[in-house]
Amino acid sequence: MDITLLRALAEASGPSGHEDRVRAIVREQLDGLADRVDTDPMGCLDGVRVATDDSPGRLMLAAHMDEIGLMITHVDERGFARFIPLGGWDAKTLVDQRVLVQGREDLVGIVGTTAIHLMDEAARGRAPKIEDLAIDLCMDGERAQQLVRPGDVATRIRDLAEVGDLVTGKALDNRVGVYVMLEGLRAAGPAKVEVHATATAQEEVGLRGARIAAHRIAPHIAVAIDTCPADDGPGTPKDGPTTRLGKGAAIRVMDASAIGNPELVDLMVTIAGERDIPVQMHVSGRGGTDTQSIQLAGEGAIAGCISIPTRYVHTAVEACHPDDIDAAVALTAAVIEEAHRLLPAS
Ligand SMILES: [Zn+2]
Repeated sequence: MDITLLRALAEASGPSGHEDRVRAIVREQLDGLADRVDTDPMGCLDGVRVATDDSPGRLMLAAHMDEIGLMITHVDERGFARFIPLGGWDAKTLVDQRVLVQGREDLVGIVGTTAIHLMDEAARGRAPKIEDLAIDLCMDGERAQQLVRPGDVATRIRDLAEVGDLVTGKALDNRVGVYVMLEGLRAAGPAKVEVHATATAQEEVGLRGARIAAHRIAPHIAVAIDTCPADDGPGTPKDGPTTRLGKGAAIRVMDASAIGNPELVDLMVTIAGERDIPVQMHVSGRGGTDTQSIQLAGEGAIAGCISIPTRYVHTAVEACHPDDIDAAVALTAAVIEEAHRLLPAS
């Protein structure tokens, strides 16, 4: 695993609609991996690799660049910034954090809480709500208001760290997916399909970028690459449907947003077997990925999803297993090389 690239991707600040810092990293990579790079008004990047075939089908890979973030609504005269969430936040995971505020310049802010011994009984038992929280810009209000205005965005600050067998940090959802897409493209041999490695925007606010990217590309086959919850953390059942860290890339069969195309699911299982790539199935009634937007765009596509099992999704300590990441890279490369098997013989 190229920890340097994964670290650069994960540590970059890129909330929905403001993916530019991540996009710059992806652009540099795609320039070396694709025959050309297309873009669109929402800022998706589409690295196109032309096919060896004359009239190829189109395979779209999609990995979203954005992470959950915050948008400032108000900066008060004491230097506290209020905000609304960009994407799905659990407010308690924001307390106790440093955040990077993209104002007129980059600023560090802190999200604090009342000391436990100063809280009354009721407050102690109550989970915080986003609207109760504020970013302390740690400066006088006048200066804060000059540097930060409503509409500016913020993300958590957290280093990527290798801890025990795992890698942990913020925004592994979905920088690990972006990483897998780039490394899968790097590892893949010649393809009989035209490959579109698309880094999408604004997934966390409703799968938006993938929708227009898919409309433009009109893929025949599409594979989103994203995290899925690992069901092996504290408090998760030992005998339930489980996706576990270290057990391989997850073939996402179903979630709340999409049912993977059965032929594509079968192909992924088959080629994983042929190539000794460890895989596990992920079946859930919850969550969603860009798969939905692509499956429903235009005249539709044969769509599915490769997932990287992740503990503590949407927190600052998201954790993945490098072996699963490597397996997902190998599976992505295999899909690139073998996707043509799903197309009618010409
Ligand atoms: Zn995601």
